[in-house]
Amino acid sequence: MEPKTRQVESARLQRVPPYLFADLDRRTEELQRKGVDVISLAVGDPDLPTPDHVVEAMRKAVEDPATHRYPPYAGTSGFRTAVAEWYLRRFGVRLDPERQVLALIGSKEGLAHLPWALLNPGDVALVPDPGYPVYRVATLLADGVPRPLPLRPALGFLPDLTEVPTEVARRARLLFLNYPNNPTAATAEVDFFAEVVRFAREFDVVVVHDNSYSEIAYDGYRPPSFLQAPGALEVGVEYHSLSKTYCMTGWRLGWVCGQAEVVAALAKLKTNLDSGVFVAVQRAGEAALRGPDEPVRDRVATFQARRDLLVAGLREAGWKVTNPRATFYVWAEVPDGFDSVTFAQHVLDRAAVVVTPGVGYGEVGDRYVRLSFTTPDHRLREAVDRLRRVR
Ligand code: PMP
Repeated sequence: MEPKTRQVESARLQRVPPYLFADLDRRTEELQRKGVDVISLAVGDPDLPTPDHVVEAMRKAVEDPATHRYPPYAGTSGFRTAVAEWYLRRFGVRLDPERQVLALIGSKEGLAHLPWALLNPGDVALVPDPGYPVYRVATLLADGVPRPLPLRPALGFLPDLTEVPTEVARRARLLFLNYPNNPTAATAEVDFFAEVVRFAREFDVVVVHDNSYSEIAYDGYRPPSFLQAPGALEVGVEYHSLSKTYCMTGWRLGWVCGQAEVVAALAKLKTNLDSGVFVAVQRAGEAALRGPDEPVRDRVATFQARRDLLVAGLREAGWKVTNPRATFYVWAEVPDGFDSVTFAQHVLDRAAVVVTPGVGYGEVGDRYVRLSFTTPDHRLREAVDRLRRVR
């Protein structure tokens, strides 16, 4: 037999950066094998259940054979109309459910496919660093060129768009943004989004704003929509997810809305890739968007109490952390002498608590670790007690 010389992975797939935390995972498993009770604060996946009225809507929908057939590609008109009504109520932004709203199999799916729909080989996508890794990887998979937009604490983790060299901005086709932000928990206001619209107009860039955390905000704060900025509907789209707001990460439902041609391009691509979201899930999504606000408020109150517990505990322990106004993450600076991976290892060894090294979100993130508070209260309390003892 001929020796096997061919790479299994395509050149395109090989561009995807290797998994960075194999070592950390190995150490975690080793501790668990020894019987150590490891607490993970590494994933952002709400432990609280989906609201009852949403589960009930799903139960009813599943029993209706009409939901058992292929769904309409772009989403049911019921779901898209519920999205448009929710947008008007929540942000005062008017959307045409037919042309400006597209259902997604979770926002990750739609974010990952967008570069395929819009980029030509060599086109630049500006991606926040630190940022949700999908923006960068999806750009690479579409033969695009990701260019990092550093997010620094001095500017409240907003990018400085005047820092983007003109020749890079001219080659840019996409600008990814995400506020409230994963992983920094930073928030942005409409005046910043207005600046983004000016930049997008000047350089003919499509803005992709990921607003997955819009409803996870504390102390009465209400994060805005990018589409509230004047002119935003002509230059960009916004992604939303049912995952965080309604604790529905497993259901896989989100949407993109905004600039009609961008929505249409993604819809055209998706027609050739998938066959939409189970209609029963979309009916449940409608019930969520149209339903009472109390279940969301209750869940956010739980996250807020956990945030208070975690921030207070970390500060007592001497950690440098800001109090997040939104998301369920604390972005903590690592002490001198560590980078994000060595500090995460240190925390794991001393406290048996898993935190995420910031370098997973980009090089600029390497001075930080991310802690999530989507863990049950008693486990979070235990983790805080242990973290108080680290150092
Ligand atoms: N965007 C951001 C910033 C996220 O943190 C996540 C989930 N971690 C997603 C999108 C994807 O969410 P989903 O696919 O569940 O809608």
